[in-house]
Amino acid sequence: MKEILLVLDLDETLLYATTNRLIQKEDFVAGIYYVYVRPDLEYFLSQLAENFKLAIWSSADDVYVEQLVNKIKPSAVNFEFIWGRSRTTKKRMSLTDEYHYVKRLSKVKRKGFLLERTLIIDDTAEKSMLNYGNAIQITEFTGDPHDDELLLLASYLEKLRNVENVRLIDKRYWREQVKSI
Ligand SMILES: [Mg+2]
Repeated sequence: MKEILLVLDLDETLLYATTNRLIQKEDFVAGIYYVYVRPDLEYFLSQLAENFKLAIWSSADDVYVEQLVNKIKPSAVNFEFIWGRSRTTKKRMSLTDEYHYVKRLSKVKRKGFLLERTLIIDDTAEKSMLNYGNAIQITEFTGDPHDDELLLLASYLEKLRNVENVRLIDKRYWREQVKSI
């Protein structure tokens, strides 16, 4: 069976980039941004790379995404693709009249990946609303040095790795499921 593809968001999911420096020291600086890497990120990516395919898809500017991903990528980890805003679709919300850059997984499918074997992980539900059955929503990261979301998520994902069709699994209460083990 083909490995599951994990499509990971970048901002507030894997790191926090801000122009307002926090109390603790940043991990690195990129342009005008102080960048704080989410705790356990290196472990998370290295561990999951053993049993999953990994990719990055952010709705931020393409050059920014490329630059930051190069900084956080462990040398032994390879991403299937690194996509930025140019791959998202601008969508107007009928209720609020706001625009969102959404990620259409049909673009991932066109690259040859099976959607039954694809999970999209994001801190913003709207970004993956068109692919509800593939989405895992996580809490946003804004620099908390005690954040343990990636450790919890890694445990949960390990349980899913042999699932034939990820779309058939209810992933809304994933955190409770990990904690109850
Ligand atoms: Mg995000």
